Amino acid sequence: MKHPDYEAVIGLEIHCELNTRTKIFCACPTAFGAATNTQVCPVCLGLPGALPTLNEKAVEFAVRAGLALDSRVARVSRFDRKNYFYPDLPKAYQITQFFEPICTGGHLDAETADGVRRVRITRIHLEEDAGKLIHTPDGTLADCNRCGVPLIEIVTEPDLRTGEEAAAFARKLRSVLVWAGVTDGRLQEGSMRFDVNLSVRRRGQTALGVRTEMKNLGSFTSVRRAVEAEFDRQCGLLERGEPVFQETRRFDEKRGVSVLMRRKENADDYRYFPEPDLPPVVVSDALIEALRADLPRLPDARKRFYRETWGLSDFDGEMLTSEREAAELFEAAAGLTRYARLAAQLVIGEVLQSVDFERERVRLNPARLAAVADLQGDGEINPQTARQLVRSLCGQDFDPADYVRAHGLGRVRDVKTLREAVEAALSENPKIVSDFLRGKTAAATALMGQVMRKTNGRADPQTAQTLIAQALEAIKDASES
Ligand code: ADP
Ligand code: MG
Ligand code: ZN
Repeated sequence: MKHPDYEAVIGLEIHCELNTRTKIFCACPTAFGAATNTQVCPVCLGLPGALPTLNEKAVEFAVRAGLALDSRVARVSRFDRKNYFYPDLPKAYQITQFFEPICTGGHLDAETADGVRRVRITRIHLEEDAGKLIHTPDGTLADCNRCGVPLIEIVTEPDLRTGEEAAAFARKLRSVLVWAGVTDGRLQEGSMRFDVNLSVRRRGQTALGVRTEMKNLGSFTSVRRAVEAEFDRQCGLLERGEPVFQETRRFDEKRGVSVLMRRKENADDYRYFPEPDLPPVVVSDALIEALRADLPRLPDARKRFYRETWGLSDFDGEMLTSEREAAELFEAAAGLTRYARLAAQLVIGEVLQSVDFERERVRLNPARLAAVADLQGDGEINPQTARQLVRSLCGQDFDPADYVRAHGLGRVRDVKTLREAVEAALSENPKIVSDFLRGKTAAATALMGQVMRKTNGRADPQTAQTLIAQALEAIKDASES
């Protein structure tokens, strides 16, 4: 590892679009991908005299997020104006919650290669999104369809230490919010965006260093890479005796480095003040309890259930629950196979890798997955064949046992075939034979390896073992006579 004397200190701010059909302060639709500037009205364009009306559903989703993250839900919260000029913000102010957010506190645990990392949540607040700028060779255009799309911003304490941890936390947060029904979690559509705040300090120190903020990262890989690049950059500055400035930076994906956007503005620069056009947000105990009762079992509870029922590791449980469809597929298959852990491995290794969950549905049928796990568990097919079958089954449906039979992918039991493999292994490996005759005992194991190689791992181990023993016996007899 580079810079072993330093550690990174990382806090995230996450913008997450809520699952509402309409915007937060008007009735315009939120659907992604419409023609530019077709989902706008005087309210979300901020025309003079237009008045906002709060979308109740947005409040409910924010409360759900708070419940899913063990936050305290404020019975009364308020909106404020954050004033700044930018071409994607026609009102020249954003309605957000600054002084009294809807949720405070809470935490979320993420599985990493080194165990569990607990990250404390500072706050969750409601706000409206800004529009999008479209840069063309002739100039920059503004699309206001996204103006007024409801967001929550989740702010974490600076509890993360590495790029891998930050990415694992971001992934876990997405899965929890999707399970809780708060967001569709489509990163490719910008439904979640991550800002990385990062400072470095010498290991063993507790004071925080000066931080920079990298805005608007759109994938888990970008979060990890941005952390690693910025950690490198800041360590380099400190090692050369240069200062780190508090500033906003942009991570350049292509070059893999962060570049300066602007030196840090203060909260003062935004002239926050209470939004005069909206009443306070009041959340009743009854609403909170109704929403709590409506939450499905969330990833940590499922993970525990998988461990207790099928002996899965928490790491695997977290992988499985990272996509709701994958978890549901696994749960259904696990009830149908004698080898639930193999089913879990196949979902983690193949289904999660080969399906783009944001765009496609999983077509693999749980009974088929269970059948493949049974074939593998019974030793009828090798792990490689099992993996290939699962990949194919994600594209089209067929009976795995029939397919294995029709394509001769099953275990090789045929004595003639196996005897030929043993003979070939013996004649190609005179050293194994001579070692054996000099009394070395590992010959049978070495030959088994060769026979497995020749049959692509499909030799029936018991039959092969018998044939190998017979062949070695014959060699011994021949040498003694
Ligand atoms: P602002 O409102 O100006 O963005 P906050 O103090 O609310 O600043 O912090 C924003 C984010 O930056 C939080 O996620 C917090 O954990 C993180 N953060 C604050 N100070 C540091 C620091 N010195 N190093 C790393 N992260 C930090
Ligand atoms: Mg910030
Ligand atoms: Zn509107």
